[in-house]
Parts: sequence; C-alpha cells; structure tokens
Amino acid sequence: MKKISIAVLVLFHSTLFAQTTVQRDPEIEQMVKEVSADSIQSYIKSLVAFGTRNTLSTQKDPKRGIGAARNWILSRFNQFAKNSGGRLTAIIDTTTYAPDGKRVDTAINLGNVVATLKGTDPNDKRIFLVSGHMDNMRTSVMDRTGDAPGANDDGSGTAAVMECARIMSGHSFPATIIFITVAGEEQGLLGATFMANKAKKENWNIEAVLNNDIMGSNNSSETNIIDNTRIRVFSEGLPAYELDKNGKMIRQLGLENDGKARQLARYVKEVGERYVDNLNVVMVYRNDRFLRGGDHTPYVENGFAAVRITEMNENYYHQHQNVRKENGIQYGDLMEFMDFEYLRKNTAMNLCNLANLAKGPSMPQEVKVDVKNLTNYTILNWKQSASGKTKGYYVLVRETTSPTWQKKIFTADTNIKLPYSKDNYFFAVQSVSENGNESLPVVPAVGR
Ligand SMILES: [Zn+2]
Repeated sequence: MKKISIAVLVLFHSTLFAQTTVQRDPEIEQMVKEVSADSIQSYIKSLVAFGTRNTLSTQKDPKRGIGAARNWILSRFNQFAKNSGGRLTAIIDTTTYAPDGKRVDTAINLGNVVATLKGTDPNDKRIFLVSGHMDNMRTSVMDRTGDAPGANDDGSGTAAVMECARIMSGHSFPATIIFITVAGEEQGLLGATFMANKAKKENWNIEAVLNNDIMGSNNSSETNIIDNTRIRVFSEGLPAYELDKNGKMIRQLGLENDGKARQLARYVKEVGERYVDNLNVVMVYRNDRFLRGGDHTPYVENGFAAVRITEMNENYYHQHQNVRKENGIQYGDLMEFMDFEYLRKNTAMNLCNLANLAKGPSMPQEVKVDVKNLTNYTILNWKQSASGKTKGYYVLVRETTSPTWQKKIFTADTNIKLPYSKDNYFFAVQSVSENGNESLPVVPAVGR
C-alpha cells in the first residue's frame, strides 16, 4: 500500500525548527475507512427503539427500558466477537446501588456493558478504554417511564464505542482495549464511578480513557451555528489526583499545562487530525463544560489520564428534554437532528487514537532532564520502553506559550542533547514503532 506522508506539525515561526512529517499507518488508515455512518445510524435506531434507557427504568421488559438496551448491546458485542478469534469477550458488569437520596430513589441493579479486546503481547499490561453512556433522561432525571429517545445523549457515544469494537475486533493489538457503555451517567456518573473505582482498586494499567458524550449533532440552539468540521476535547489543567503531593513541583517547573489529561488531549488532536480528513480537534482547557460533568471525571479523580470528547456546539432544545412541540420549536433528543457523517468522523477520531496507542510501544521509562550543570543545552535521557517493538523515540518540543508540540525530533538513542534551553521550552519523549505509532509522551523529571 502506498504510504501517504503528511505534515502534522505547523511550521514553527522560528528558523530554528524544521517541519516534521509523519507517515500514516496503512492498517489504521484502512480501519478509519471502515467506519460507517450507516452502521452507526443503525445502532442509534435500535437504541432509540427501547423507548427509554433511563437508569431507573424497567429491566424486565424484553423490548423497553435499560435492561433490554444493555442486553442488546451485549448481543452486538458478542456478534463482533466472532471475528476476533476469541480475543473479544463481553459481559454486563453489574453491582447493586441503594437509594442515595439524590437521583436514585429505589434499589437498582446497575450494569455496564464491557467488551474487552485482549492484547496479543502477554508482556504488555497496558489498557486503553473508550466509553459512552447508554442511559438517558427526559426533562426530569427521575422520570423512568416516558419516552426518552437519547439519540445524541448519549446514543452517539454508545454507537461510536460499538463501531470501534466492530472494526477493531477484526484486528490485533499488543495492548488491551476496553469498549464500555455505562449506565447511570445522568444519575450521577454511577457506572463510570463503579468502573474507575474497580480499575483503581485492582491496579489496572489504564493509560488513556476517551469518554464520548454528545458528539453527533452539528448545530447550536439559539445561535444557529452549523459546524461539522470541529470536535472538542476537554482536559483538566491542574491534576485532580494527588495535587497536594505534586503541586509544589508543578509550580516550580511551570507544568500547569502538562498534566496527563492535557498530554492525552494533545495526542488525540495530533493523531485525530493525522487520520481523519476535514476534522479539526479543538482542545478546551477545562475538565468539562462550564459547571457540568461527565464520565471521564471518576477516572481523572483516580489518577488515570481521561478526556471528554463532545461536539463543537450543543443544541439544548434536544438535550434532556421531553419530546414536544412548543412555540413552533421541536424539543427532544431525536434522530432527525443528528448528522451521521459528522458522527462518523468523530468515531474515526476515536478509532485512530485507540489503534495508534494500542499498536505503539509502551512509553519510555525514567525520562529525565539533566540539571547537573547550568547550560543552554537541554540534555534528556531515558530508558527503553518496557513492551513493544520500538524503532526509536520522538523528542517533543514547544514554546511555553504554545498549546501544541511544535517539533518532533526522532532519535534511535535513549538520550539527546538539544541546543534549546530548558528555560524557554517544554519537552517530552514518546516511543515510536516502525509504523509510526507513538506512545503517549512522558514529561521529563528532574535528574541530578
Ligand atoms: Zn450525556
């Protein structure tokens, strides 16, 4: 297959930096092509047909409510598993949840549908997780009987997760990928909290969580903007986890913008734009939308790198609204308001990132910046990746005010001496495979 070379980094305005090009991996390019708007639309049609997927809704009715919905998602995952040579396995991971005096007023059986595509390298303990929430709500989150289509919130994220599983289960990756559709998001992030707490307790090596919530509509309410070429990725700045422990070092080194979630957001932007045409990944420098929450947060609070992926503009006529017509406006989260071509691109953006991460080698270890002597050079050294086939490493460089990496310098060594002062630039190191699949970047620690 012909390799397409594309520029991924904008030419830095200083003549110090030359342009870097990175190859597309033909296997990932092929998987991206397989993402189908029709397939995504058919999943959402089926999800909407369950009438309501409110977490408090019936689990006994075979055709209506969250019980029927989760059984159907499980059956789809089991169908995909047939292509996987036994590597994809799916379960409904359940727990009981007692009334909490908030958004749960009766004991419920809470169930996440979890499909795990086991990695092929037994030495590779990494897990990459993609999430959407299957539950939904009407105007009242306690209304468990009326119709709640939930086509976009979060039929879009659920369908994206399923489409990634369908395509990726036919391919093999050294690292493990978990495709999860959770319940209880609208009731207070219950399903994601259950999963994140379990992962923390059992020491799962989750390196990245992509949470997809509301990503298939291309327009805003009130302001009438239409845009299907941009998708937002939200990431926290100061890390929620162990900030007390690490705050002093973050302030001293000026790393307020270099936490795990922010690094993941940069990665998602770079790789997403590498593989998906006509899509601009817009980083938003906050954990979530203004005063609002999402399923990535329980992971963030347990110390995992997690980001939220959401459409560029939200339409509040179609979100958390009973289906009705008022003053000529149609309210409700209906399929007719979705843009499946936009959702295809946003799904592909998830897929290429998961694939690039899971195909790539693990991160370089013990990355350090040498501070033994005062010098205008920056000297970095590290130890090789614990797993995966590494062709070499990219040393990433950016000015302190730049949101994205401006330079990728390849080296096959495990150290580098650069004529750029560590006073004036940020650095990180990532491993890279023969096919150009990069690990997440590691910010150097101080090495004396
Ligand atoms: Zn949602």
